[in-house]
Amino acid sequence: MALDPQLRRALADRIQFYNELGIYDFYRHEKIPGAPSLAETGGAPEPKPAQPMQKAKPVLSAAVAGENLFAAPKPESSVADPAQALRLIREDLGDCTRCVLHKQGRKQIVFGVGNPRADLMFIGEAPGADEDQQGEPFVGRAGQLLNNMIKAMGLRREDVYIANIIKCRPPGNRTPEREECETCSPFLMRQIAVIRPKVIVALGAVAAKTLLAINAPMAELRGHWYDFRGTKLAVTYHPAFLLRDPRQKSEAWKDLQMVMKELGLRAPVKSI
Ligand code: URA
Repeated sequence: MALDPQLRRALADRIQFYNELGIYDFYRHEKIPGAPSLAETGGAPEPKPAQPMQKAKPVLSAAVAGENLFAAPKPESSVADPAQALRLIREDLGDCTRCVLHKQGRKQIVFGVGNPRADLMFIGEAPGADEDQQGEPFVGRAGQLLNNMIKAMGLRREDVYIANIIKCRPPGNRTPEREECETCSPFLMRQIAVIRPKVIVALGAVAAKTLLAINAPMAELRGHWYDFRGTKLAVTYHPAFLLRDPRQKSEAWKDLQMVMKELGLRAPVKSI
């Protein structure tokens, strides 16, 4: 369908605005019955009403992986070397002030660490105090446990890639706000697109719910494969939760064994 020239211009301006914020991908939601169309709202995309949360199903497409409507070229899009592409994304992020966290005591941005060609990517929630101090994800107590989990899978920390849903420490380690996740996660999406892991493991409910756009308890989210933009995604407990409730380690180990089977890995040790 040909767009009305005025509407096209309004759309182009809005897309440029988002590009300047570092957001490059735009997705079209299913039309909500009774909701006005873009033309009816005078060309400016209206904020979407909250979508009903989906229940977890064994295999489903991530809601964030909708139809890509307008993909402006990203700085990294013509770069073949993933390490260089990640550097360009980091540059694009800059000294980020896109959400409130930049003025709420964060020391530095915690971008992500590991093998730019990793088959396996772990995604946590947000940096804590140690990560904020050192500029690297999962370096505190939870990080030590994550390192043990990785080792138990027969891998080294430097074999995998580790990142978080958001890149700045929330004050007092509070749970990230939805808006912070929505502002920051496009950069994570670009990291994933560059690394192209075979498997993503979401660590804990915040990571799982943000990536899958599902509101369900961990007990339901675990134990299944999900399709995240064409990549297999599994959910397991956050290491910080396992530190508080070590009895759940055997359950987490089952999740990791599912991942190992998918990646053709054999465990050097029996459990975490
Ligand atoms: N918890 C997280 O979710 N991420 C980190 O980087 C550290 C602790």
